[in-house]
Amino acid sequence: MTPQRAAVVAVLDEEHGHASAETVHAAVRRAGGRVSLATVYNTLTALAAMGELRELRAGRGPTLFDVNALPHHHLVCDECGRIIDIDAAVARGMRLPDDQADGFEVRSVDVVFHGRCSACAGL
Ligand SMILES: [Zn+2]
Ligand SMILES: [Zn+2]
Repeated sequence: MTPQRAAVVAVLDEEHGHASAETVHAAVRRAGGRVSLATVYNTLTALAAMGELRELRAGRGPTLFDVNALPHHHLVCDECGRIIDIDAAVARGMRLPDDQADGFEVRSVDVVFHGRCSACAGL
């Protein structure tokens, strides 16, 4: 792992595992790192291509990078933007009916539950 990659992964851990390239860049800069947003973005994209990170699109906002590269799904709080990992088993057995597949070859399934987290609900 290069120092750049180590820095990026450390930031993702601090951000509870999911962050945009902009968020990672800002954190690296705060920590005194001198890298451009383009370099951070390229590092994140390269790590995703290698299977070390996952790219996550969860509704509005930029693509997020996910430090958990294993198959899993997400709870997304629509009020504070918090993202929580949930087990892949939640969607096990989910099938696309043939009459709706239109010849589509499914490679993966991403399930996102939207709602309000316990903190926003005041629990
Ligand atoms: Zn929330
Ligand atoms: Zn995740």
